[in-house]
Amino acid sequence: MALPSNPRVGLVGWRGMVGSVLVQRMQAEGDFAQIEPVFFSTSNAGGTLPAAIAKFAKGERKLLPATDLDALGACDVVLTCQGSDFTKVTHGPLRAAGWKGWWIDAAKTLRMNDDAVIVLDPVNRPLIDAALARGVKDYIGGNCTVSCMLMGLGALFKADLVAWMTATTYQAASGGGAQHMRELLTQMGTLNGTVKSLLDDPASAILEIDRLVAERQRTLGPEETKNFMVPLAGSLIPWIDADRGDGTSLEEWKGGAETNKILGRGPGFTAPAVPIDSICVRVGAMRCHSQSLTLELKKDVPLTEVEAMIRADNEWVRFVPNTREATLRELTPVAVTGRLQIPVGRVRKLAMGPAYLGAFTIGDQLLWGAAEPLRRMLRILLER
Ligand code: NAP
Repeated sequence: MALPSNPRVGLVGWRGMVGSVLVQRMQAEGDFAQIEPVFFSTSNAGGTLPAAIAKFAKGERKLLPATDLDALGACDVVLTCQGSDFTKVTHGPLRAAGWKGWWIDAAKTLRMNDDAVIVLDPVNRPLIDAALARGVKDYIGGNCTVSCMLMGLGALFKADLVAWMTATTYQAASGGGAQHMRELLTQMGTLNGTVKSLLDDPASAILEIDRLVAERQRTLGPEETKNFMVPLAGSLIPWIDADRGDGTSLEEWKGGAETNKILGRGPGFTAPAVPIDSICVRVGAMRCHSQSLTLELKKDVPLTEVEAMIRADNEWVRFVPNTREATLRELTPVAVTGRLQIPVGRVRKLAMGPAYLGAFTIGDQLLWGAAEPLRRMLRILLER
């Protein structure tokens, strides 16, 4: 079954971090011209569309209630970046009521369902096409860190060269959403304000500045740490998402489970899973998730070949020469923010032996890590 022309696409969560980037990208790529967008809200149902999005509307000018199953059910496609709580309360009842539309979602809730595909088409287009042919209707964006890593190093997995991989991640505040980003910036301002007069005086003692900052960090109140629970500004948090009770975080589990599902490996597939494990760390970057990777390859592949494979994999990957100059210029969150390019650098053989490879990769997790695979999935449906 294909979409009708000018299909009704319900957009939920369009004002959040992911949703805002999605709307920007849809505008840039002319997607709104091919659909009738209908905007939903969980917090302002009945409200008037803000000017920034009203220009895309063709019929409905009010925000529809995102809990209204009839309104959602009148859409050919629901494209949601609202979050997992919304998905939990609407997707099941909507399907139970007989809705046969396509559900495209940024949230984790449905990713591992047997009848859902994790979408990252430059990596797994054959899987998406096979699912469409089978009549699968749920297409879910992957974990942001996983998607950015696979956009960078997918070539090595596609060639079945990876025996195992570990990652240490450096994940930005924006991975938590709009409120988390605001909290980080507010904390930064608070800390700066605490020592501003001393900073302005070149003769002041750095240890006194350090003492005052640490004291202020430790006394930030519950309102100032509501989202991250502890200070992030000037610090880091080596735990992301829920505690699975076995020493791993949910974010770390996703690294292995989702990477394999995207690649069509592991449970439900014929190819065995590649062992992948990680330690996921929140850092005070604004946007962009970075990761330091260690891989054991199944054989000793010369670095020139590794480089050629990475370069040739997709049009967004950028191979960064393993030099200090290129790394500082191209391999930082600041350099990558707002860009679709996925730089891969620090690629070198490790001291453990010729089959061991180190690499560092960065991606704007709001683009390839979230909005872009969803937008492209909508395009795949539109172009069938
Ligand atoms: P978010 O910024 O917190 O936005 C989610 C929703 O929260 C908004 O659509 C909005 O819904 C509501 N909201 C409440 N206060 C808001 C405010 N001050 N500003 C903007 N929105 C506000 O969350 P997100 O980061 O976009 O994540 C959405 C989903 O994508 C989640 O399931 C997340 O796990 C997933 N995801 C996120 C990322 C990432 O890097 N952030 C990456 C991949 C996947 P209403 O308009 O309905 O009120």
